[in-house]
Amino acid sequence: MVHWIKMAYEDRYRQAQRAKYDCLLFDLDDTLYPLSSGLAAGCLKNIGDYMVEKLGIDESKISDLCNLLYKNYGTTMAGLRAIGYDFDYDEYHSFVHGRLPYENLKPDPVLRSLLLSLPIRKVIFTNADKIHAVKVLRILGLEECFEGIICFETLNPIHKSTASDDEDDIAFMGSSSSSSICTRSGEIFDIVGHFAQPNPLSVLPKTPIVCKPSESAIERALKIANITPERTLFFEDSVRNVQSGKRVGLDTVLIGTSQRIKGADFALESIHNMREALPELWEADKITEVVYSGKVPVETSVTA
Ligand SMILES: [Mg+2]
Repeated sequence: MVHWIKMAYEDRYRQAQRAKYDCLLFDLDDTLYPLSSGLAAGCLKNIGDYMVEKLGIDESKISDLCNLLYKNYGTTMAGLRAIGYDFDYDEYHSFVHGRLPYENLKPDPVLRSLLLSLPIRKVIFTNADKIHAVKVLRILGLEECFEGIICFETLNPIHKSTASDDEDDIAFMGSSSSSSICTRSGEIFDIVGHFAQPNPLSVLPKTPIVCKPSESAIERALKIANITPERTLFFEDSVRNVQSGKRVGLDTVLIGTSQRIKGADFALESIHNMREALPELWEADKITEVVYSGKVPVETSVTA
C-alpha cells in the first residue's frame, strides 16, 4: 500500500520538474530551409570564383584546396586566412553571398507559426555574415521568430586585419588599403603539399577566424548569448557541428536526414518535423501549471 503511494508521489515529482530546455539554438543555412534550394551549391561555386579572381589561385587547385581548408578550418575563409591569404572579410562575404540564388527561397509560414508557438527562447547561430543571415530570415518570413543572431561578426568583431586601427598610423606602410582588396601576407602555406606527404612533419598554421565547428567558438557563442548548454537544444544540418555541439554539452538535432548519427540526440528529415519529433517543447507552459497547481505534495516539489 505504502509502496503505491510512494510511486504516485514519484510520478508527480517527475511531472513537476521544470521543462528540459530553456533555449533553442538554430543553425541557419540548410537547416531552416532545405539543401535543395541550391544556396549551398551557389556558395561553393562563388568561393571558388573568389579564390581564382581575387586571390589569383590556379583554377585546377580550387577543388582540392577548398576541401582541405573546409575540412581543417571549419570554413574555406578561415582556412584561406590560416594559410596566408589576407583579404577584407566584408568584400569576401559580399562576393560569395551577393550572387546566390535567393529567389529559390520562399516564405515559410508553416515554420514561422511553429517557431512562434514555441514557448522557449530561440537564437540563430551561423558562420555566415549578418547581411546574409538577415536577408535569409527576411525572405523566409522568420525575422521576428528569434531573440538574436550570433553570426560571423559576433565571433570576429575586429576583422580589418590589414588596416591599422590606430589613426595616427595613417602613413604606415605607405598605404595600399584602397588599392587592393586582398594581399598575401608573406609566404602561402602549401596545405595540399602538406597532406600529400605520407607523414606530414610541419604543423598546420592557425587561423585568426572563430567559427563552427570549433568547440571554443561554440562555447564563446553560448557565453555571448547567455546560453546554458545542458538546457539547450541545437538544430544543425552539419554532422561535425552537431558533434562539436554535443561535446560542449548541447543536446542536438541533426537536420536533413532521419538517420541518427553519433552525437545527435535526434535526427529530422526537415525542420518542419520538429513538432512530431519533439512535442515536449510545446509543453513547457503545461509543466509550469503542474508545478504551481498545488496538487503536488510540498515535500516533493523541491525542483519547482
Ligand atoms: Mg548549415
